[in-house]
Amino acid sequence: MTDSTPTLTDGYARQLTYLRLSVTDVCNFRCNYCLPDGYLADNNCNNFLSLEEIHKISQAFALCGTKKIRITGGEPLLRKDLPQIIERCKSVEGIDTLALTTNAYSISKHLPKLVDAGLDQINISADSLQPENFQLITGHNKLDEVLSGLDMALERGLKKVKLNVVLMREYNRSELSDFLDFVRQRPIVLRFIELMETGDNKAFFKKQHVSGQEIRDELEQDGWLQVLREAHAGPALEFSHPDYAGNVGLIMPYSRNFCTNCNRLRVSSRGNLHLCLFGEEHHSLRPYILEESPQQLAKRIQHLVSFKKAEHGLHENNPGTTRHLAMLGG
Ligand code: SAM
Ligand code: SF4
Repeated sequence: MTDSTPTLTDGYARQLTYLRLSVTDVCNFRCNYCLPDGYLADNNCNNFLSLEEIHKISQAFALCGTKKIRITGGEPLLRKDLPQIIERCKSVEGIDTLALTTNAYSISKHLPKLVDAGLDQINISADSLQPENFQLITGHNKLDEVLSGLDMALERGLKKVKLNVVLMREYNRSELSDFLDFVRQRPIVLRFIELMETGDNKAFFKKQHVSGQEIRDELEQDGWLQVLREAHAGPALEFSHPDYAGNVGLIMPYSRNFCTNCNRLRVSSRGNLHLCLFGEEHHSLRPYILEESPQQLAKRIQHLVSFKKAEHGLHENNPGTTRHLAMLGG
């Protein structure tokens, strides 16, 4: 794409240059806030977007000015064709950043191929640095493997490595200083994410939700300073400290004005366009993906974006139709 490529802009003047693309709903973990009973297959459980469909969607979004695609899931590493997916998306003119969000189960085995395919950034999820606690949260005794995958990503020179941590009152609130120690020598972004309410986790949410403001207050008391981020960089806040190689990010969807800086759209692994993570409706692109040209599909997306709402309804305890984030990739 050229500098004259139009940017997808919604009715609130937000520029939507970032696509989160889910490639599967299936997951091998049982995170207590997401899929506590594990992934339950439905009749449609293999009907995920094909490599061809993913390629076409990437082309259409790039024509709309999308620059960054994040592959997510479910667990994207469970797709055997993940290296090909990354290669195809990255080959699309206009897409300059290809990122992956993963639970990093057996990542060391996969990472070299993913990097060769063009992966630029990786977000690895680990909500505790204590092996027993990690197992309690995810159902798997895999913390060592996940953390060595993170170090391997750093060694391989990925442009950005992030560690995603969902804040939970009883499971990791007391681990703040351990997490900060973890980034003392590692040039990564440690991102604390406020636990979000979904259709399936209401009781858990009530008991476990922690406001990111608590973390922010502690960081600021310890001399962490907010980093100025580029315009359209998205809703996360970021902090740095001279004694630490890593930065700390805060994702606080319950804070005021969180949605003002929204820069993203989502496509589910079934080919549905979601204008918001917690919307009431979605728009099926599936019937058109292989039938239409990337240009026609781009026009369709441009039209649908005008329906994007100003903000989500989480403050009113309304997660829309989202039962859990494995449906959409977070
Ligand atoms: N399976 C991959 C993983 O866990 O990284 C990708 C999909 S997962 C849905 C994406 C991110 O959403 C993870 O960092 C996960 O911890 C986070 N997440 C899932 N459910 C959440 C919730 N209810 N509130 C906040 N974050 C959540
Ligand atoms: Fe799976 Fe990710 Fe959900 Fe955990 S958060 S159950 S790893 S999809």
